[in-house]
Amino acid sequence: MDHFLYRSGTLHAEDVALSDIARVVGTPFYCYSTATLTRHYQLFTEALSPMPHLVCFAIKSLSNVAVLKTLGQLGAGMDVVSAGEYLRAKAAGVPGDRIVFSGVGKTREEMRLALEGGIRQFNVESEPEMRALSEVATAMGTRAPIAIRVNPDVDARTHEKIATGKSENKFGIPIARASAVYAEAARLPGLEVMGIDVHIGSQLTELEPFEQAYLKVADLTRRLRAEGHDIRRLDLGGGLGIPYSRSNEAPPLPTDYGALIKRTVGDLGCEIEIEPGRLIAGNSGVLVSRVIYVKNGEDRDFLILDAAMNDLVRPSMYGAHHDIVAVEEPAPGAEPRPYDVVGPVCETGDTFAKGRALPDLAENDLVAFRSAGAYGAVMASEYNTRPLVPEVLVHGDHYAVIRARPTFDEIVSRDTIPEWL
Ligand SMILES: *Cc1c(COP(=O)(O)O)cnc(C)c1O
Repeated sequence: MDHFLYRSGTLHAEDVALSDIARVVGTPFYCYSTATLTRHYQLFTEALSPMPHLVCFAIKSLSNVAVLKTLGQLGAGMDVVSAGEYLRAKAAGVPGDRIVFSGVGKTREEMRLALEGGIRQFNVESEPEMRALSEVATAMGTRAPIAIRVNPDVDARTHEKIATGKSENKFGIPIARASAVYAEAARLPGLEVMGIDVHIGSQLTELEPFEQAYLKVADLTRRLRAEGHDIRRLDLGGGLGIPYSRSNEAPPLPTDYGALIKRTVGDLGCEIEIEPGRLIAGNSGVLVSRVIYVKNGEDRDFLILDAAMNDLVRPSMYGAHHDIVAVEEPAPGAEPRPYDVVGPVCETGDTFAKGRALPDLAENDLVAFRSAGAYGAVMASEYNTRPLVPEVLVHGDHYAVIRARPTFDEIVSRDTIPEWL
């Protein structure tokens, strides 16, 4: 459920009409709903409530500091994958003991930054990284709390670019090598082993792969404990999928996911961490765009929008589907017709949808891409020198621009001319 609904014929974010925001902010823009972000976060905390837990929002899915502050004030932890994301979490007022540092290639500088600023745990992904972290921590006279990411060799049955839990993927250490790696971690002076980490992929639409992975983690917990390691925490990753197409998708609910966690690892007495990104942010955001032209082609009609692949890359990068709706509610019984929905960028890849059934639309009409909160604004670029798309946060009946659209002067002045020109 989300808080983007038609009211008196216009699509609203909570109590604010998207057309009102468009008039002031211009298009395209991303719009997020505080109530939806809050609700989705709380679905997870409720689902995990029988167990000690921390829900760490995966910042990479939506990293605006105002959004992070919204979630941080509810008690959320943060899952970061770079120095920049760590600094965003800090800027949002999230204390270090609620920040988990993930990612396959943390540099020594990033390790130092997080150790200085405070960190709940590093999720270590390889033996060389583990040794580097021990050296950095030792030189600073401290010990780094760690979980080691294991690769359970489970097929997440999702898009290949976002599957991470198979042995051929670059992530984590093979579960078969875990005993040896944990033994080395225990010997290294700069580390304190806290737990086990696993993350098998994103946009999972079935619970079965999670179940397989978590059962392996439960076995591993018992084995490592028998080998003398104090496994206190299990970080079970993110990845729960969302319905991108309202008409035909029904991915599992956080409640069922929580019950699965309880069933598979709940009796181990560990603190449970999860790292959802998409499920919290995805349906909390829309991308609003204006129709520039309707072009009647030979065998199809093109809807040419002022949003493009640089603003929302998922359709061209992953072939992803986003529901597209008219901001002005179509009249009841109005016949939809098929459009190819495209942006103005000079690439055929700049296509959002082909043959999409939409109500009759005309120049200047507004449309909204649903489920665009996650992996939307964060993956945007200024390709074609199109200004980075602004972001707006709605809260009840008011809203604020939480990232302004840069001016062309700002964009051009970031380039500097060498003295020989
Ligand atoms: C991407 C990622 C997540 C978040 O995945 P979602 O599908 O957005 O929930 C969590 N943890 C790690 C390690 C990731 O790489």
